[in-house]
Amino acid sequence: MPVKMPLPDAETLARRTQIAAAMRAIVPGEGVIDHQDELAPYESDALTAYAQKPLLVVLPENTEQVAAVLRWCGEQRVRVVPRGAGTSLSGGALPLADGILLGLSRLNRILEIDYDNRLAVVQPGVTNLAVSQAVAARGFYYAPDPSSQVACTIGGNVAENSGGVHCLKYGMTAHNVLGLKMVLMSGEVLELGARALDAPGYDLLGVAIGSEGLLGVVTEVTLKLLVKPPCAHAVLLGFGSVKSAAQCVADVIAQGIIPAGMEMMDRPAIHAAEDFLDIGYPRDVEALLIVEVDGPAEECAHLMELITATARRNEASTLRVAANEQERLRFWAGRKAAFPAIGRISPDYFCIDGTIPRRCLPDMLGRMTDMAHRHGLRVANVFHAGDGNLHPLILYDASVPGDLERAEAFAAEILRTCVAMGGVLSGEHGIGVEKRDLMGEMFGEVDLAHQERVKCAFDPHMLLNPGKVFPTLHRCAELGRMHVHHGQLRFPELPRL
Ligand SMILES: Cc1cc2nc3c(=O)[nH]c(=O)nc-3n(C[C@H](O)[C@H](O)[C@H](O)COP(=O)(O)OP(=O)(O)OC[C@H]3O[C@@H](n4cnc5c(N)ncnc54)[C@H](O)[C@@H]3O)c2cc1C
Repeated sequence: MPVKMPLPDAETLARRTQIAAAMRAIVPGEGVIDHQDELAPYESDALTAYAQKPLLVVLPENTEQVAAVLRWCGEQRVRVVPRGAGTSLSGGALPLADGILLGLSRLNRILEIDYDNRLAVVQPGVTNLAVSQAVAARGFYYAPDPSSQVACTIGGNVAENSGGVHCLKYGMTAHNVLGLKMVLMSGEVLELGARALDAPGYDLLGVAIGSEGLLGVVTEVTLKLLVKPPCAHAVLLGFGSVKSAAQCVADVIAQGIIPAGMEMMDRPAIHAAEDFLDIGYPRDVEALLIVEVDGPAEECAHLMELITATARRNEASTLRVAANEQERLRFWAGRKAAFPAIGRISPDYFCIDGTIPRRCLPDMLGRMTDMAHRHGLRVANVFHAGDGNLHPLILYDASVPGDLERAEAFAAEILRTCVAMGGVLSGEHGIGVEKRDLMGEMFGEVDLAHQERVKCAFDPHMLLNPGKVFPTLHRCAELGRMHVHHGQLRFPELPRL
């Protein structure tokens, strides 16, 4: 495994049998997995380039068991990695050799649906799609819609602040969560946020959402429910150049239109999706946009007129408004299946997740073509054009020596370029281990030290998901006193990952 993780603690490894027994006392029955063969399915998440079997897997069933596990591990200084469905693309749920992998999949109940107040209270192991399915008959839905929504869990969505195609208009997870129950490594249970808007005090809900399993384990989530818009229209737009497509995106947004979704695919991605599903995407274009608007029928029709006129001004060579709901869903099916489509043409791929200001799209895609030549690897692009969130898919073959390292170098160059253009390292997949060592590109030492102090306030012994997000393992006591004297770093025994 090329990525560096905290060194396993030999004493914890030696206590494995005792730790398993303590866990069985808290989570009886089938809730503890310690057989080596049965640990194998847990050794990686969707960032399969990196794998590590955990010490044990523990599958609690309720908040009380989560609290008891964390309290015991906190007292015994045993590390813990939370896991939902394991679809993280940034290695957020990558296990540690000396750490318990805490699977939340058995906390999978919808506890309450309150239509009057348009909210639902769910356990973290409920899948994203299950929430919308549970309220669909009453005309409601949960807005954030990651492409992985059939599998990924609400707990994982909260930890990664996940987004999706419709987040351009309806916001990310952070904009659709009202409250959380979160268990700390001490076993204490925090209630963050409120059912009403604007809870008093510091915005700890905001701190917890997107904290990538480093601050606490979420065991209950209060979600906002939205009423399904009465109408949705989508249009497929093909362009002879990425520049024209990007200009069309910019011109639509500049008119004050916020489409429900605005996605772009480049030529390699269009061809992969078309070969896979035969959607009817044009093959003779360099870039494809799928633009959707929703709301009352009159509003949709008016916005669609403005958008198609804008596309014509930008010399769209294909302009196809979905004739019916079936065709609209078909447009999206190709986009949503783009990742598996790419999986068919390459043994492995890295999915990158930087953002850039929208105006930089043509320049960035041009630079990526140049990078692909230099690194000797192919790249396909499928991304949320409306909010500048890129998803370059770097194609490689892990069985070819050196290919993974070249893919990693290519990915790092893309992300550095995103930051240099004024963007950020992650739009929605999180930092995890994947982008951890690039955090210094975005944040100075003081910024990082303050972020780690927040971590210390919740988890003073750095036991929860260590080795993720922060490029250096600090002791909490060390933070704020970081000082290099004659080239001698304090606490030299702590790994600089
Ligand atoms: C094909 C595919 C498409 C995808 N498309 C999108 C997309 O469109 N948008 C998007 O944003 N992401 C996307 N993802 C990434 C991924 O699905 C999301 O990051 C998702 O939120 C992860 O959820 P999970 O349940 O699988 O979490 P996991 O992968 O199990 O864990 C992710 C992180 O959350 C932490 N965690 C999990 N549960 C808890 C909990 N209860 N309490 C505290 N921490 C917890 C873990 O420690 C880890 O750091 C995609 C992934 C795949 C494979």
